Amino acid sequence: MSEKKKIHKVVKWPDPVLQKPGATVTVFDAKLKKLTEEMFESMYAAQGSGLAAPQIAISQRITVIDVSFRKNPEEQIVLINPEIIAREGKQVEEEGCLSLPEIREKVSRAAKVKVRAQDVTGKWFEIEGEELLARAFQHEIDHLDGVLFIDRLSRLKRDLVIRRMKKLIKNGEW
Ligand code: ZN
Repeated sequence: MSEKKKIHKVVKWPDPVLQKPGATVTVFDAKLKKLTEEMFESMYAAQGSGLAAPQIAISQRITVIDVSFRKNPEEQIVLINPEIIAREGKQVEEEGCLSLPEIREKVSRAAKVKVRAQDVTGKWFEIEGEELLARAFQHEIDHLDGVLFIDRLSRLKRDLVIRRMKKLIKNGEW
C-alpha cells in the first residue's frame, strides 16, 4: 500500500514569504526527505516543472525540479542549499511561475549553468544544465533568494505586470 503524500498549497504573489531569502538547511533527516517527496507531488498537482520551498510557505533553501513533467523519474532533481557556480551564454524565453498564475513574460537568463548543491542526505554534488533545465535552475534558485522572475524584467514591464496582478486580485480572479 502506497502512502498518500501531502499536497501543499502553493502561495501566490504578493505573499511576503516569496520575497524573503530562505534559511540554509542544516538538518538532513527523514523529515526533510519526506518534505521533498511532498514537494514533488505538490508540483505535479499544480502542473509545474519546478517548486521552491518558499512557494509552500517554508522559508528554507530547498527546491525540486522535473523538466520531464513526471515522464522520466531519473529527471527528478532535489537541490538543497544550491548555488550557481558557473554561467555561460544567454537565452531569452517566456517564463511562468506557479506563484504568479497566468503571468508569462520573456526573461533573459544564462544559457548554461553549473550548480553546486546538497542532496537529501547532505552530500554535496555538482550538476549542469542547459536550455530549459538551466532556466529552471536559475528560476528556482532565485526563489530561494526571495527573487521572482518579474524582478528580472525591465522596470516598465514589471510595473505593468504588477498592475495586471492587482487588477486580477481586485476582481477575485487571482
Ligand atoms: Zn516560480
